Amino acid sequence: MEPTPSLFTVLDSVPNAIFLKNADLRFIFINKAYERLFGVCKEDVLWKNVLDLSYLPEKDREFYQREDQEMLRRGQTSHHIFHYRFSDGEMHTCLYWSGGFSQADGVRGLIGIIVDITSQSETIATLQDELKQVSTAKKIAEERGARDALTGLYNRGALEEALRTQAKERSLFSCVMFDIDHFKRVNDTFGHLEGDEVLKKVARIIKENSRGNDLACRYGGEEFLLILVGNGLRDAIFVAERIRVHVAETILLPNGEHITISAGCGVYKSGEAAHIVLQRADQALYEAKASGRNKVCDETMCIIART
Ligand code: GH3
Ligand code: MG
Ligand code: MG
Repeated sequence: MEPTPSLFTVLDSVPNAIFLKNADLRFIFINKAYERLFGVCKEDVLWKNVLDLSYLPEKDREFYQREDQEMLRRGQTSHHIFHYRFSDGEMHTCLYWSGGFSQADGVRGLIGIIVDITSQSETIATLQDELKQVSTAKKIAEERGARDALTGLYNRGALEEALRTQAKERSLFSCVMFDIDHFKRVNDTFGHLEGDEVLKKVARIIKENSRGNDLACRYGGEEFLLILVGNGLRDAIFVAERIRVHVAETILLPNGEHITISAGCGVYKSGEAAHIVLQRADQALYEAKASGRNKVCDETMCIIART
């Protein structure tokens, strides 16, 4: 018959630190990996209790002793991760696993295994770091993709998405479509860069006069759309008028001429498709242009005007 290998020889060949304790929780075996890791030899440890091991911090010894007693009493296993400076002088992250056992002949004891997971935990930390960076970059890209580069307002794509959500939820909202008056003349007279400055100033005024819940968007070249979430037509007209006055009073061209805007207001009727309310706001805007510009009109005026 083939001779069976000795248990201790086998445990000595395992690269992880392993120890065995008797029912008094005294060490009856430590393997070679344990000796290497802690820089001790069997004679230093055997027949000692963990409370006697001066190379371990006192607080840890008491913790291990309590835990070992518990595992031994219940015949259960426990594990935790700990950080420790071993004999090589380096900080290591380790997984500590222990389990109480009892044989049919009544012999009881405890086995403990220490697995060095320093490199795995470093890899996990690096991956977590990278994941955080990727999700931040994704958030920035999403935010950038939803914004108009010149004015920083939401772009049309983001707006249409928001409108669809609003319509789906059938919640109350109103909208104001703004258009800068005679903007082509600004470009023609002062150049595109000056035109861009005017666009930025109008955008800032719209943004400053809207609340956190509202959605300010650059709808087209010199057209802007403000969605007032939770507000009806009267509020839309009020806000539009405030913005119109603010623009007319504060935005000046290099020759001292005032920039003005016209606006059309509409309110969402529950159940209709989202773009229908935009059409009504657009008609109201058309009405404001046709009746002299630098004006705010609303959808009810359009109905009156057409009948
Ligand atoms: P109205 O009062 O009827 O609105 O006249 P308008 O001149 O404002 O309207 P029109 O639609 O004829 O001209 C809009 C101009 O807006 C034409 C286009 O060159 C200019 N525009 C569109 N996008 C930009 C932009 O990003 N920057 C600049 N500087 N101009 C732009
Ligand atoms: Mg226009
Ligand atoms: Mg215009």
